[in-house]
Amino acid sequence: MFNFDNSYARLPRRFYRKVEPTPVADPAFFITNNTLARELGINDEALFSEEGLAYLSGNVLPEGAASISMAYMGHQFGYPAMLGDGRAILLGEQIAPDGRRVDIQLKGAGQTPFSRMGDGRAALGPMLREYILSEAMYHLGVPTTRALAVVTTGQYVQRTEREQGAILTRVADSHLRVGTFEWLASIGGDVAVLLDYAIERHDPDLLHAPDRGGKWLVRVAERQADLIARWMALGFVHGVMNTDNMTISGETIDYGPCAFLDTFNPKTVFSSIDHFGRYRFENQGQIGVYNLSKLGEALGDILGDEKARDEKITAALKIYGDTFQKAYFRYMARRLGFDDADESVYALINEWLDLLMKEELDYNESFLRLTYGDERDDWSPDFAALYEKILSATGDAGEGIRRANNPAIFPRNYLVERAIQEAEAGDKTFLLHFMKLLEEPYAHNEEQKALRGAPAIPGYKTFCGT
Ligand code: AMP
Ligand code: MG
Ligand code: MG
Repeated sequence: MFNFDNSYARLPRRFYRKVEPTPVADPAFFITNNTLARELGINDEALFSEEGLAYLSGNVLPEGAASISMAYMGHQFGYPAMLGDGRAILLGEQIAPDGRRVDIQLKGAGQTPFSRMGDGRAALGPMLREYILSEAMYHLGVPTTRALAVVTTGQYVQRTEREQGAILTRVADSHLRVGTFEWLASIGGDVAVLLDYAIERHDPDLLHAPDRGGKWLVRVAERQADLIARWMALGFVHGVMNTDNMTISGETIDYGPCAFLDTFNPKTVFSSIDHFGRYRFENQGQIGVYNLSKLGEALGDILGDEKARDEKITAALKIYGDTFQKAYFRYMARRLGFDDADESVYALINEWLDLLMKEELDYNESFLRLTYGDERDDWSPDFAALYEKILSATGDAGEGIRRANNPAIFPRNYLVERAIQEAEAGDKTFLLHFMKLLEEPYAHNEEQKALRGAPAIPGYKTFCGT
């Protein structure tokens, strides 16, 4: 069924712990991603049968599984902490027919040596939320971990209330994080071994390059800049950009306290624990700088003596900043209907955002109004004037560009909540319909348009570790 190779488990023993999933009482598939299974060369009929259920619930280990939890630390809200996979178990690395290698990980599969006070489990609602958001992000064109299935366990987990337990099967290019490097640096060993591993896995062209540490840091910086720029253009707030939640592959990971903006406000915070707004919408680009500097520090001597190291980190951060600016304005320009951004477009983007802010307009809905030119009864005179200005500046090509860059549907808070609540209560109709529509966000079909106008949720709050 799987075609596992376990390169991570061949690394020195301190990189991970051997651990097996804890069996569950009464597993059942809740939602399955058959397309993704097939893309990975996994027979979806077999995977989503009794046999596969035993694997994805953690009740049976598939042949060739490594079954490990990874060690890592993280700077959480600026403070270092030893973490590791407290509820995630890496089954193995699936080698797809096209040669691609991806981690297959069970999230919520029971306690590990890194569980600390946690139960190692996950609740159904939050796992569905990750399933919906990560798959939607993928189809929106944003690098992300993906979701292969959610399985219910037939057991309860105690959160604020008693909730149904569930396990998400997460797929990632890798689960290497900034925090994985920090962990090895903190125990004084093997950072170079991990760097070799990361380069071989993600940037093999750098394997024999001179100064590969410095060059690789730049690669990570470029990927991260592009990723965060994409989030910003779409109005996505990650919510917990600790260094353990930043991959070196450039994939979005850890869909806990995240959400998309409803009303445009750069100060938006959704996370229930982000009291000072460290990870607020407008601060995300800057947090990338912080996280990358932690990665640079973890590379230590690999980058040379102190002076050389400082220079290389500074150079990488400069490239990060430039890449981020360019990418952000490019993605924003496209949403307005331009191919790319020059100075005059920058000004227009700022004018647009100022208007959304001043009139407290809905972020993504406003882009749709710009795209379709509809709902005119709701337009203010300033909105109408800016609409005309953008339309004449973008010319004939504008409409097509806007349609290709403004999603007709995305994980709007109201719709996500509705899908989860109805599914938890036993009716998956809307969840499945929503997932289908999220597969082609730029199709602009009638079913997608029918879901427009869902209200904002004022004061919406999201949570970690649920
Ligand atoms: P997060 O805030 O999701 O990045 O998680 C931070 C740390 O808490 C990671 O080491 C997780 O593995 C761990 N964690 C979160 N929820 C649980 C849980 N229910 N049981 C054990 N560990 C957990
Ligand atoms: Mg995490
Ligand atoms: Mg989490």
